[in-house]
Amino acid sequence: MVFDFTETETQRLVVKSVKDWCERNLTFERVREMDDKGHPFPKEIVEGLCGLRVVMGTVPAEHGGSGIDWLTQGMIAEVIGYYDPTIATAAGLMAVETGWGFTLDRYCNETVREKYIKPAIRGEKFVGIATTEPGGGSDVAAFKSTAKKDGNEWIINGEKTFISGTEECKKWGGGYWINVRTGPIQPGAPHRNMTSFFLPIDAEGVEVQEPYRDAGRMAISTGGFKMKDVRLPDEYKLGEEGKGFYYTMEGFDNARMMIAASCVGIIQRIIDEAVPYITERKTFGRPLAKYEAIQFELAELYREMEALKLMTRKTTWMQDIRYKEEGMPQKISKAKTFKPTDVAGWISMIKWKGPSLALEAARKAMIWFGAAGYTKEYILESAWRGVMSYVVGAEGGLNIQKIVVARELLGRDYVPYK
Ligand SMILES: Cc1cc2nc3c(=O)[nH]c(=O)nc-3n(C[C@H](O)[C@H](O)[C@H](O)COP(=O)(O)OP(=O)(O)OC[C@H]3O[C@@H](n4cnc5c(N)ncnc54)[C@H](O)[C@@H]3O)c2cc1C
Repeated sequence: MVFDFTETETQRLVVKSVKDWCERNLTFERVREMDDKGHPFPKEIVEGLCGLRVVMGTVPAEHGGSGIDWLTQGMIAEVIGYYDPTIATAAGLMAVETGWGFTLDRYCNETVREKYIKPAIRGEKFVGIATTEPGGGSDVAAFKSTAKKDGNEWIINGEKTFISGTEECKKWGGGYWINVRTGPIQPGAPHRNMTSFFLPIDAEGVEVQEPYRDAGRMAISTGGFKMKDVRLPDEYKLGEEGKGFYYTMEGFDNARMMIAASCVGIIQRIIDEAVPYITERKTFGRPLAKYEAIQFELAELYREMEALKLMTRKTTWMQDIRYKEEGMPQKISKAKTFKPTDVAGWISMIKWKGPSLALEAARKAMIWFGAAGYTKEYILESAWRGVMSYVVGAEGGLNIQKIVVARELLGRDYVPYK
């Protein structure tokens, strides 16, 4: 298989329309205002991007989406990361809604699709993902929430925490993909007996907590909710009982690709901000750009960004091939060219490289700018605070990505959790 780098006419047109829109609506001043004001996320930004049909753009057209491929969706996420380097827009609308919304659409039934997914694609409601629990996020064995069958309903109890978009979801309506246990934890196989459901945020028994006071990506909230005897009809179950862990890994894969792509955009923006600054700012009679200490760092950053971009585009292309071969909806994996685990390895490499490189880019550029870099006059500090969310944990911490890559190299006998 040869990856063709030629941009298609569709890609060129879609990317241009998103760029034009961002140029007018995600200006430096607007993004700064969103970051200063904090959540909830501005509805007009959601509606504007949804109007371009690029939020959950990969959802098939017959399900209300645009049916674009992941390669193109990644290019869109690059643009959104570029214009909002605080990462709030990319986190809320690309990683959470697009990554998870697409996967949710694959496993939900018509009721959930009509009531929640289609309205979210139109920008009317919010859909997100809630796996993390107070006991921990990386370790599946820590998840304790349960669902018990009662006739044609399920009774859900438990708690989810550090969940993106809870305030937006409460305000606009919508809900979350949740994972709960529908059987006992099996020693050595905690991922078994995990079932996925769609939980409407306004279901009786759902108590939304006060949002956290995050360090960054201020325009989108992070909160949590308790579920006390919440009754959900069986049609809110996603896919088959006991298979939730596998569906969730697929959702993570798609969200992680969006994160890496938005990091490409953030790093390009940092470079574009830095070049005029370091060529104009003089110390000891010379521009900063003349000093090797700075120009070598810039050159290295540029090289690494281009490497990340190539890796990210290759990964989204691999995922497209995988989905084409599997068909819709997925029943049994028919992927031939790339195994899902091969793709997952690439996805973990870019989820690891993207946020850590973007964090490093922001940190270095802040130092090149001196005191100015430490102020809100430039986008650098907001990018630094925003991408840190992906380093510490959102959509899986960096060490977890390294474990996935090592698992592909060494085999499952060497995973640290067995
Ligand atoms: C801003 C933000 C938004 C979020 N949004 C969502 C959301 O929408 N939905 C959702 O479900 N969750 C969300 N999360 C939670 C996220 O999924 C978790 O942070 C992540 O899974 C890590 O879990 P934890 O924070 O409990 O850290 P822990 O699991 O306690 O891990 C702590 C640290 O140890 C590392 N670590 C863990 N195990 C190992 C190991 N075996 N070897 C080496 N290092 C290890 C981790 O990488 C991490 O750095 C969000 C988090 C943030 C910061």
